[in-house]
Amino acid sequence: MTWSIPLGRVYGTEVRVHVTFLLLLLWIAVIDAGQGGLPAAGRGVLFVLLVFVCIVLHEFGHVLAARRFGVTTPDITLLPIGGVARLSRIPEQPGQELVIALAGPAVTLVIAVALFAVTGTRPTLVTVDPGGSLVGMMARLASVNLFLLLFNLIPAFPMDGGRALRALLGYRLGFVQATQIAASVGQGFAFLLGFLGLIANPILLFIALFVYLGAAAEAHTVQLRQVAQGMIVGDSMMTRFETLPLDAGLDDAVRALIRTAQRIFPVVDGTGRLQGVLSQSALVQRAQAGGPDVVVADLMTRGIPAVHPYQPLGDALRLLQDGSLPAVAVTDAADRLVGLVTSETIGEVMLTHGVRSSRAAGAGRQSGRTRDAA
Ligand SMILES: [Zn+2]
Repeated sequence: MTWSIPLGRVYGTEVRVHVTFLLLLLWIAVIDAGQGGLPAAGRGVLFVLLVFVCIVLHEFGHVLAARRFGVTTPDITLLPIGGVARLSRIPEQPGQELVIALAGPAVTLVIAVALFAVTGTRPTLVTVDPGGSLVGMMARLASVNLFLLLFNLIPAFPMDGGRALRALLGYRLGFVQATQIAASVGQGFAFLLGFLGLIANPILLFIALFVYLGAAAEAHTVQLRQVAQGMIVGDSMMTRFETLPLDAGLDDAVRALIRTAQRIFPVVDGTGRLQGVLSQSALVQRAQAGGPDVVVADLMTRGIPAVHPYQPLGDALRLLQDGSLPAVAVTDAADRLVGLVTSETIGEVMLTHGVRSSRAAGAGRQSGRTRDAA
């Protein structure tokens, strides 16, 4: 997720914080300072940091449950509406997704119950300013955890409740249809929340935006996967492109960019083997910082995975999405680079999907899409 800052790694999962979460901290500090001066601002920020710890524990509930099913979690991002654990793949078995979705709220429930028990307070959503008392702060934290639990269980994507809803629908419907329903419920909920935000609290508008975008992104990811079903890598790769040698300078790269209108360049060594890819955006971003000695090997993205032309397109899509990579390489049996799959080439397949499926009967499989550089 962009606009997020990495904090560190725990058990191989990177914990990141979204800048809007920092804005929330600032907002609380300002409000509290206005009401009770500097000590109140300090308590306010400390309190939000404790909430933050509870959210991280919630997310690790998801992470550990996912690990049981062999699903890793590259990162967790903390947003003002809670955390988002990015799974390396979404388990398409409803039972597994249900367990993963509910593991986070289960952790939050345990924290809330424990805090209410320790402080001897009655479970309530009403929070009162604890003043300087530690017990008061813990009781308030318990209430916040109760709120987080209820909020996360709202059956609307991308909340945990929405994932649970998709899993439950998935027992009856297909994964794609179940996602579309859960995403529509999520977007409907976002509109409702946005409307409430307009009349009640502007923070809700913020939350509504995150909910709306989260639901839309999930629906899009699953839609892509549906289109990819039944297709092979060869259906969606570009096969005409120029490559750059490792020692090409910035001028060479820029000239190639203008000459070919290509947005991504494979970078190859002397024997023609792929060493990385250089995207237009990386070139533009990093070229300004680099000196005259910079070569494309310094700017390229390394570790590009390779697939074969006859592999399912879904494999390439998963690699692209999970690794947030600019491209996946396509190599032949002799390990030679024959094509590239990018989100653009898959996007083109999506655009032409309707046309292709209506002409598919009897037409047989078309050859790979080519992008002519000329
Ligand atoms: Zn969760």
